[in-house]
Amino acid sequence: MSILRIAHYPEPVLLTVGKPVLEDEFNADLESLVGDMFETMYEAGGVGLAAPQVFESRRLFVMDVPDEEGNSKKLTLVNPEIISVEGEQVGEEGCLSFPGLFQTVQRQMRVIVRAQDVKGRELEHDLRDLAARCVLHETDHCDGIVFLDRMSALKRQLAKRKIKALQKTGKWE
Ligand SMILES: [Zn+2]
Repeated sequence: MSILRIAHYPEPVLLTVGKPVLEDEFNADLESLVGDMFETMYEAGGVGLAAPQVFESRRLFVMDVPDEEGNSKKLTLVNPEIISVEGEQVGEEGCLSFPGLFQTVQRQMRVIVRAQDVKGRELEHDLRDLAARCVLHETDHCDGIVFLDRMSALKRQLAKRKIKALQKTGKWE
């Protein structure tokens, strides 16, 4: 396995709609990509990572939001499709493609998502709280949407100013 390079905003790949993973692409190459994505995510200290964030413009992501007991909950969602959402939550969100930037984002509290696993099996997941936030954030990445787009206009202006300052530190490239 290997650590992949993470795309930082505003890399064009982050703003591009990912291609669906086709039936004949559920193979060893996909499993290897997923393995590398998990390793890259853990190394970077994230709870979710989408393929466009590692320069693969495809609709898939990995996540691991531990349960209340702290047990690892590894999930691979390929071709994710949000089936339904309910409620709302407001909380601080970060993104590995925006190193050092944390902003309050409003999301739904619960999400039902249909996706394929790495073997191509179709599954439905019913998730809440941080796991729901993560699914919504990562599904957005698959669609070329970044969390900046989910902020109010005022917060987005503030975030863009912070990004400029962070870019000057040299840690952003
Ligand atoms: Zn992100």
